[in-house]
Amino acid sequence: MKKKQLFSELAEQSAEEAEPPASSGRVAGGLPQHFFEQNVSLDSLAAPIQKNTNRIRPKLRFVPPQTAKFPINPKTNAFRKKFFSSVSFAEWSDWHWQLRNRIQTASALSRIIRLTDDELDALTLHKAPFPFAITPYYLSLLDPVSAVQPLRRAVVPVFAEMRRSAGEADDPLAEDRDSPVPGLVHRYPDRVLFLTTDFCSTYCRYCTRSRMVGHGGDCRSSYDRWNQALNYIEATPAVRDVLLSGGDPLTLPNDRLEWLLARLSRIPHVEIIRIGSKVPVVMPQRITLALTRMLKRYHPLWLSIHFTHPDELTAEVHHACTRLADAGIPLGSQTVLLAGVNDDVDTMRRLFQGLLKIRVRPYYLYQCDPIPGSSHFRTPVVKGLEIIRGLRGFTSGYAIPSYVIDAPGGGGKIPLLPEYVVEHNSDGLILKNYEGKLYQYLEPTEPAALL
Ligand code: SF4
Repeated sequence: MKKKQLFSELAEQSAEEAEPPASSGRVAGGLPQHFFEQNVSLDSLAAPIQKNTNRIRPKLRFVPPQTAKFPINPKTNAFRKKFFSSVSFAEWSDWHWQLRNRIQTASALSRIIRLTDDELDALTLHKAPFPFAITPYYLSLLDPVSAVQPLRRAVVPVFAEMRRSAGEADDPLAEDRDSPVPGLVHRYPDRVLFLTTDFCSTYCRYCTRSRMVGHGGDCRSSYDRWNQALNYIEATPAVRDVLLSGGDPLTLPNDRLEWLLARLSRIPHVEIIRIGSKVPVVMPQRITLALTRMLKRYHPLWLSIHFTHPDELTAEVHHACTRLADAGIPLGSQTVLLAGVNDDVDTMRRLFQGLLKIRVRPYYLYQCDPIPGSSHFRTPVVKGLEIIRGLRGFTSGYAIPSYVIDAPGGGGKIPLLPEYVVEHNSDGLILKNYEGKLYQYLEPTEPAALL
């Protein structure tokens, strides 16, 4: 067999577009079924392949790991077999299936987890425009019994959502005020926020844009609205950075997303495009090879991924982030500080250190925005400062995000730091290090003598 021909067959065997038959022990291309169910390296399959052909040079043994099928973590696999026993692994790993089978009602959810009266009330009485939906994959990570499990608190409604407290507002960041055209926020001088869609695969109960996501309105994805936003960007040379957000842009089909990326990349003054998404966490199967192949055509492209808790760092998420990073996309994380979910140093350390291991740089830690019904999620600011103080010096600087408050009323992000400067006088500074020890730093002065 010719080298080129064999290489292309290897690639085809592992291409995810060629779904394996679900029932047989062997699948198309002769790969064993277990290969599709676990994160089996192609290296382990290379030895017999190489034995069959002595014409292959060693470098051809290494089909890149990103061509492997999605793995499935043991907890999720047990969940799939228990609640979706007729669903093949191939279907489960198809993001379209995940989207079609989102859990959106109290009755569907109560068949899988034991709802408390409070959760049931919230789900059945929920009249607000902010909807409820969870992908089957993310649901597999929830505790079926404990309502205080962090991931469950983040996505299952509770009655406290119905209570508005002082200072809460539908649009706390005044985004609508700073929108020159529907769905485009122009607040900072050189960049805009482009709300591509109002749709998310899973709805976070603390979403800053709960006023608009999931209920159809000005921010539904439509070419007409996108064209208005694109016309504004084209006519505004100061805009050098466009952040695509929503809703979740990675829920858009590849062709629509590519249409938008292509239009933006043709605007001469747009230097970088960023995407904000939670999809790699709640529906990692969406990160297909076709998607990453498409995205890498639009560099420089950056991706901010919304992570909440270390329990989200599964084999599937690792795989999705590996594909994105291997496509040359710098990955950052955004995390909202949430009471009872991630508001302690140990949880945050495990999350941020875990993110570095999957090549995601912790970028922002946000104080939770005061949307209506968010008081049960919001922590005192001192909690965020305590977390940063508990990280700085105790772990790599790369694992420490910027802690910010997005100022209510549209003031933008304001960074917050624990107090490390004890005194600033005419000589210099008295500084406190991470151990609480004091050090003096002298400001530069005119040299008094030769060395
Ligand atoms: S993924 Fe983002 S936009 Fe969607 S509900 Fe969560 S926070 Fe809101």
